[in-house]
Amino acid sequence: MFEKILIANRGEIALRIQRACREMGIKTVAVHSEADADAKYVKLADESVCIGPAASALSYLNVPAIISAAELTDAEAIHPGYGFLSENADFAERVESSGFVFIGPRPETIRLMGDKVSAKNAMKASGVPCVPGSDGALPEDPEEIRRIAKEIGYPIIIKAAGGGGGRGMRVVHSDGALLNAVAMTQAEAQAAFGNPVVYMERYLQKPRHIEIQILADTHGNAIHLGERDCSMQRRHQKVLEEAPARGLDPKLRDKIGERCAAACRKINYRGAGTFEFLYEDGEFFFIEMNTRLQVEHPVTELITGIDIVQEQINVAAGMPLHYKQKDVLLRGHAIECRINAEHPYTFMPSPGRITAYHAPGGPGIRVDSHVYQNYWVPSHYDSMIGKLLAYGTTREQAIARMRTALMEMIVEGVNTNIVLHQALMHDQNFIEGGTSIHYLEQKLAKATPK
Ligand code: ADP
Repeated sequence: MFEKILIANRGEIALRIQRACREMGIKTVAVHSEADADAKYVKLADESVCIGPAASALSYLNVPAIISAAELTDAEAIHPGYGFLSENADFAERVESSGFVFIGPRPETIRLMGDKVSAKNAMKASGVPCVPGSDGALPEDPEEIRRIAKEIGYPIIIKAAGGGGGRGMRVVHSDGALLNAVAMTQAEAQAAFGNPVVYMERYLQKPRHIEIQILADTHGNAIHLGERDCSMQRRHQKVLEEAPARGLDPKLRDKIGERCAAACRKINYRGAGTFEFLYEDGEFFFIEMNTRLQVEHPVTELITGIDIVQEQINVAAGMPLHYKQKDVLLRGHAIECRINAEHPYTFMPSPGRITAYHAPGGPGIRVDSHVYQNYWVPSHYDSMIGKLLAYGTTREQAIARMRTALMEMIVEGVNTNIVLHQALMHDQNFIEGGTSIHYLEQKLAKATPK
């Protein structure tokens, strides 16, 4: 096992990884920007290294600075967390060629899955069902593009092969708007991701976003840990996640889960990963794979009792998974609310000093957060300040516990979306369960008259 791991991330996930390491007796190195120098979680690490100024491009994305920090501190492995460099194949390659272990898949796997066109092709070849669409990248010939769209049937969605974070997508409802939309998405994709390649899919009207968590080791074992329902989204960004997905047939779960595990074996996948699907009328359609730890991994930990971060570390150290598929039992229900420092309805980020803070507790409550009273929420990064989770034997109990926890939670000095989560926990359609990815935006549109 490793003696020391460098955590190339910040905020709650840096703390989450530290906690996993401490339990395993592994020392940690926190790298941080100047803006995060005083954060408590940085002080909690065994060692810390400043890797640059506040701007991410100069610190958390600064590959040479991170590698030097690992050299300086004699760390053996690097955990990238999520976001930042976590799905950057060049970074993974640099880490390994510098003699460190990258806690994640092989660089070539990240590259394969990072391009959504090649990812879809690989999944099709492995028998994973995909959203019907263009056969790979769109051709140049406008007539050919129009023919493909017609064949798929409107509405369609144009997506950037290199896209991520809910960006680089455009829905098209008619032939008249098609070519212009393709050109605009290509230009945006080039500007944002440095890759103008776009592809086309049928635009599903009322799907749910359901994803499968998998774990794979370097001994040929791959298992799935069931699903998460992440349909509560705004601007293609997840707001709340839960596991299991309300109403999903356990036989279908096993079938799709096994397909994903089989695909992992086929592509020699290593570590933790997530297959994202749209789910409509009892059918799963693959949209993309995330080759890293996800924000919402704790809901799966709560219903399986498996520490996903520790399994990632074990696998990276060359050990076999601690679990076989038959050991994975899904028990109870878990919900996660992402707590963001932002206005609950305009979603405007709200950086600044947290003047009062109280974390909720009690049976079944888990808080993954790096903040505290007097913590300064920097304006340079994502607005998420923590994740509040509730576990219950039933979904009803999890909701009841989440309501209590949200009521107990105090965050003052910055705006937060706590009231939005409170409203959701009392929303009749959420309580019934199974709402589509469009539900939250429709609800918000009604609540805030233009
Ligand atoms: P990203 O990498 O930016 O997260 P995804 O491919 O995972 O992009 O898609 C993000 C979200 O966009 C999905 O969760 C869903 O809400 C919406 N979306 C993507 N593809 C489709 C589609 N074919 N039909 C309907 N909605 C879609």
